[in-house]
Amino acid sequence: MIPLDEPELQSIVSDPLHLQMQIDFLIIGQGISGTWLSYYLQEEQLSFLVIDNNEARAPSRLAAGIINPITGRRHVTTWMADQLLPFVWEEYQQLGKALGIEAISRKDIVDFFPSPQMRLSFQQRTAEQAAYISISQEENQYRNYFHYDFGFGEIKPVYTAHLEKILPAWRSQLENKGQILTEQFDPTSLTVHPDRIIYKNITANKIIFCDGCSGADNPYFKNLPFAPNKGEALIVEIPDLPADRIYKKGLSLVPLAEKNIWWIGSAYEWDFEHSDPTAAFMEKTTQVLNHWLKIPFHIRDHVAGVRPATLERRPFVGWHPLYPAVGILNGMGTKGCSLAPYFARELVLQIRNNAPISAEADISRFARILQRS
Ligand SMILES: Cc1cc2nc3c(=O)[nH]c(=O)nc-3n(C[C@H](O)[C@H](O)[C@H](O)COP(=O)(O)OP(=O)(O)OC[C@H]3O[C@@H](n4cnc5c(N)ncnc54)[C@H](O)[C@@H]3O)c2cc1C
Repeated sequence: MIPLDEPELQSIVSDPLHLQMQIDFLIIGQGISGTWLSYYLQEEQLSFLVIDNNEARAPSRLAAGIINPITGRRHVTTWMADQLLPFVWEEYQQLGKALGIEAISRKDIVDFFPSPQMRLSFQQRTAEQAAYISISQEENQYRNYFHYDFGFGEIKPVYTAHLEKILPAWRSQLENKGQILTEQFDPTSLTVHPDRIIYKNITANKIIFCDGCSGADNPYFKNLPFAPNKGEALIVEIPDLPADRIYKKGLSLVPLAEKNIWWIGSAYEWDFEHSDPTAAFMEKTTQVLNHWLKIPFHIRDHVAGVRPATLERRPFVGWHPLYPAVGILNGMGTKGCSLAPYFARELVLQIRNNAPISAEADISRFARILQRS
């Protein structure tokens, strides 16, 4: 048995042929949840291996990365926004430094009112001094780019996490250190003991599933109330549109890291027959762009994926009540970019210091249904 030299691999031991591996944590999935979890474990110098199949249609690989404190037609403040906003801004910047990339940008939302009623509702919310929203006095500011009749409101601060840079950059760091296997995880090869798990040639103290929608079929967690939700988006080239904002009019038009490339989406479907892109979304969104934009655009791609949403819109974080070596970080729904880092850190603080996980996210709230086979 020979220990490897990098500090974060100190407790990985393997035989001379690398046939056996002993680690602290085996993580399944390198979407945004598995990325943040492995990052915080590395910060704590705990050893881990990630298994991920690198599925191109995983929602983390096609999300726009918006971190928006406001939701819905009534413009209400999202769950935990006051804590999450400063937290994600700081943490993504730290992650960006570690990876040598810009991981997050501030992109406030220009919210064009689709009707006089929506304008009125927004004005009422600003009169109530609702957080994060204001009405712009510069009504004509965007007339060169968009058709709009009822003015616009502003939502700020809003951030975009640059998942299209973060996920590959973190993956290549893991590859360089031999900390990721690109393959399908097979639950039939997993043996769970009270104090460890064995998967093929790997022995780990714990396994943590960050497997997104696959969690709904996961033998340990399939009883959790997952409510998968399908989304679609178009990737569009729009030269000359100022890329310092997100523009919204029902759909959101979001600048991506590549110059002149925009993301427009997305649908929210609870009831869907398949997870592929649909002609109906393409047609509706092209029409929206034709009516909304005054400048030319060119559609480059059409993507669709399924969000790991949950019935009560709260994440699933923590340890299985019957199998203490089996954990989960999942159920991020429409808000993975803000919830994943926050709850990955909570989980690692729980591991490190036995700190409690927030009651609304801790899966101990489902202890009874998880104890059913
Ligand atoms: C169109 C769309 C737009 C969105 N926009 C936003 C947004 O703007 N802001 C925001 O915060 N959220 C957004 N979301 C939601 C966000 O994408 C999700 O909350 C988030 O990506 C969930 O991340 P995750 O890592 O938990 O799961 P996933 O992204 O599903 O990652 C799971 C990973 O595990 C892998 N995996 C699963 N099973 C196995 C297995 N058996 N073996 C090996 N690997 C496996 C998958 O391939 C994947 O890589 C959007 C989602 C969609 C669909």
